Amino acid sequence: MAREYNLKRPEAKGSSGIDYAAELNEQQYAAVSAPPGMSLVIAGAGSGKTRTLTYRVAYLLDQGVEPKNILLLTFTNKASKEMMERVRGLVPRDISELWGGTFHSIGSRMLRRHGEELGFTRSFSIMDRDDQKSLMNTVIASCDIDTQGKRFPKPDVLISIFSLVVNTADTLQDIVELRYPYFEEWMEDIQRVEKAYRKKKLQINSMDFDDLLVLTLKLLQKDEELLRLYRKKFRYILVDEYQDTNHVQCELIDLLVGEGQGLMVVGDDAQSIYSWRGADMGNILGFPERYPGAEVFRIETNYRSVPAILNLSNAAIRANRKQFAKELIAARPAGATLPALVPVEDPSTQAQFVAQRILDLRDEEGVELEDIAVLYRAHHQSLELQMELTSRGIPFQITSGLRFFEQAHIKDVGAFLRFVTNRKDEVSFKRMVMLLPGVGPKAADKLWAGWRKSAVAKEEGVPASLSETFLALPAPKKALKQWEQLALTMDELVAGGEFARPSDMLFSVLEGVYDEYMRESFDNYEHRRSDIEQLMSYGEGFEDVQEFLAQLSLMSAVDGDPSGRRSEPDPEQLTLSSVHQAKGLEWKVVFVIWLTDGMFPNGRVLDAEDEDMLEEERRLFYVAITRAMNELYLVYPQINPRSYTGDVIQRPSRFLDDCPGELIEEWRVGGGW
Ligand code: ATP
Ligand code: MG
Repeated sequence: MAREYNLKRPEAKGSSGIDYAAELNEQQYAAVSAPPGMSLVIAGAGSGKTRTLTYRVAYLLDQGVEPKNILLLTFTNKASKEMMERVRGLVPRDISELWGGTFHSIGSRMLRRHGEELGFTRSFSIMDRDDQKSLMNTVIASCDIDTQGKRFPKPDVLISIFSLVVNTADTLQDIVELRYPYFEEWMEDIQRVEKAYRKKKLQINSMDFDDLLVLTLKLLQKDEELLRLYRKKFRYILVDEYQDTNHVQCELIDLLVGEGQGLMVVGDDAQSIYSWRGADMGNILGFPERYPGAEVFRIETNYRSVPAILNLSNAAIRANRKQFAKELIAARPAGATLPALVPVEDPSTQAQFVAQRILDLRDEEGVELEDIAVLYRAHHQSLELQMELTSRGIPFQITSGLRFFEQAHIKDVGAFLRFVTNRKDEVSFKRMVMLLPGVGPKAADKLWAGWRKSAVAKEEGVPASLSETFLALPAPKKALKQWEQLALTMDELVAGGEFARPSDMLFSVLEGVYDEYMRESFDNYEHRRSDIEQLMSYGEGFEDVQEFLAQLSLMSAVDGDPSGRRSEPDPEQLTLSSVHQAKGLEWKVVFVIWLTDGMFPNGRVLDAEDEDMLEEERRLFYVAITRAMNELYLVYPQINPRSYTGDVIQRPSRFLDDCPGELIEEWRVGGGW
């Protein structure tokens, strides 16, 4: 007869002394203290989902669970760092053995240990975008593609295409047909390059970002023993922002969760905003079916926002058909003010309003800059504001991307203007000519040497014509057509013996040379094109190109450092962010700008007339306004006098139509100059 011997759970080590029931509401507490098993917390914005996960980790540790048995997956490294800090604050013990991070970081950790099984060594390199680009160049060259005549997609574009294949589970064929129809004729070659790229990565022992996900999944699918090991290790798996997982991430979790493990995912279907990158809201909605018996917790209280803001959020999302209808109730007491709806005359008035209001908030109401954020749909919509803030000396950080003038495409078009006004500017000359096919550093040197000797190069003032000299230079064979085009564009910049107006110059560069280049070189062509259009609008304010260029240089030298680098991050600064980047975060005061049809919702979505895409835009709007704790400003310009895309008169965002008048207070902005 066998003897029964039961292991007892060891005494809780570092009991945190947290009063869970007091610091959490009933649903949160139920989720935090649930016995191991499958659970889903699905709840609206600001209801404490992230807080629930944090307390859950603390609770598990309090129960004696070892940190090494916990896996915590979050959307960004920053979020995970913050969460770990909060846990450390709650539970004073060493949690370095807890695996916390993004899917990518966890993947890379596993692959470091076991990558051999897939043919990599432990010291594999992780390629960033630049590495990827140069590798892709090598691969394309090795594939012997006949690129005479029509141009083959540039590395950047191919990288994006291949990444979409991985993240959406669509085929290469579908992705090209649907999203890059103008490259369809290259289909076979693209397929060849894809294969060769994969082979090459293995050969040089390097992985790209997507590999960190896909190969981790492959590894665990392939090696059952290893999978068993990790299942044993990660007894508790917790995932934040689950609504934005894609199919690889979802499969990875499903695979890692075996018998007897605990899985808790939290998310909000109304905040799913990454479907364009392959995220699938179906993962969260289908969770109860994939895990029968899973406990579902719903939190109906919002702790973040004052009731006035919450009422508006509830109203804003109501129009979406595809959702679990939720009505959040505010935990916070009512404040005095309603969210502000602020129509302003034009983009520059918008920037002035935001800047001035921010100063008022700081100086009169004691709100710190770090508690204020300005959110927008697309990075380029922050342009005027960046300039206004810079000229008023209001410090800000931008999380949506590079500062406007540090972006490659802005510098590229700027190089044309710089060069015609200063024909000794070697850097701008080279930057410009290297945009042409087949012109690398060597060819650029040669061209420059030829140029320097010419008569026009030495002339001061406005040259009569540049094209003659340009056409006499030794242009590479591959670029003959483009070279001619470039030469003609140069003449447009100095037409009639004087410099053209800055915005006209930009227009010539864009239409003559740069648009084609952009289309072939960048994955996010439309964005970049609108950036340049935005720059053209800004240029409208200048007659003189040199003055315009001087202004641009000053703008890129924000923070007093001409390199644009900041030595120490200034804690006292305002945040400018795209809505996507603002996910999961909160500020006391939030401004949402550019709320016009075509900007937010995005014009491409309106053109596509696709209801699902419009619903995602609406969720994005919901994410934006639910970031605000105390004050919310919804701002839109009524005219865009320099709109290059169409109408000058702007229609207020259709999302504002869903906001009933009694929930909002309209502000009339007057005065100014
Ligand atoms: P999002 O959907 O935007 O990610 P969330 O559901 O993750 O939001 P949290 O960020 O966890 O929400 O919480 C929002 C705010 O409400 C935080 O400041 C948090 O500390 C506070 N909060 C949440 N629950 C409670 C509670 N029970 N008591 C007091 N404050 C709470
Ligand atoms: Mg959250």
